Amino acid sequence: MYLSNYHSHCDFCDGRAPMEAFVQAAVDAGFRGYGISSHSPLPFDAPCAMSAGRVGEYLAGIERLKREYAGRIELYAGMEIDYINEEHGPSTTYFQELPLDYRIGAVHYVTHPSSGRLMDIDGKEERFRSALAEIFDGDLEGLVDAYYDASERMIARGGFDFIAHLDKVAMNAERVNPSITGTRHYRDRLMAYLEEIAARGLMIEINTKAYPALGILFPRQEYLKRVLELQIPVIVNSDAHFPLAINEGRREALEILRATGFRHVTCLEAGAWTRIYLDN
Ligand SMILES: [Zn+2]
Ligand SMILES: [Zn+2]
Repeated sequence: MYLSNYHSHCDFCDGRAPMEAFVQAAVDAGFRGYGISSHSPLPFDAPCAMSAGRVGEYLAGIERLKREYAGRIELYAGMEIDYINEEHGPSTTYFQELPLDYRIGAVHYVTHPSSGRLMDIDGKEERFRSALAEIFDGDLEGLVDAYYDASERMIARGGFDFIAHLDKVAMNAERVNPSITGTRHYRDRLMAYLEEIAARGLMIEINTKAYPALGILFPRQEYLKRVLELQIPVIVNSDAHFPLAINEGRREALEILRATGFRHVTCLEAGAWTRIYLDN
């Protein structure tokens, strides 16, 4: 199996080990390529994000590892960049000028359309529930709409290589209302988003982070048929926060992709996004 991962955290953000521990785990497991993609600095204090003052050290650390591990694994400097608004996102000058090998576009923070307050859609259920009550006045459908609105604005601006966990909001939203993703409204929004992604020629990841615990991928398995029909290139990533998790869910995700009819996934080879055929 061709082993690679381009969505991975480390102790520059909320990852639980130094970047070298992830790289060593990847070498030990026989990975061909590995990218580190800490959470980008944010325009407000957040414990999950890298501080702007450490970005230079982060990039220098990856460069040092590239030299040390040359010939054993292809290493890449990435960043999971939050789209917050027009002033802060993957397309903004600051992120475009960073010497990164690739950029991931992600939405974790959603703006309430009238108050302008930001809500984190990721993380623990209790925190999600209290933020939903406080910031969105309990309006779950409003939050889901604001999430897909932000996602659509992000892809309209571009500036990234692929989209992270495109339906991440579903995880916590379903904990509040298990039938939300089964509604016509939700499905229409998700499908419209996929069509927009395809129309713009963008790539997405198949994020396996929740697979071991919840048996779900981002995007959900049920949408993969449409992803295939729309010919959206897919990159399988573990979004690992622990070195032991770098390969979690990969084999299962590849089996699901194969069973759905996918013939290839996309990986970085010598710095270029390249099709890798699943029968290899
Ligand atoms: Zn993320
Ligand atoms: Zn991540």
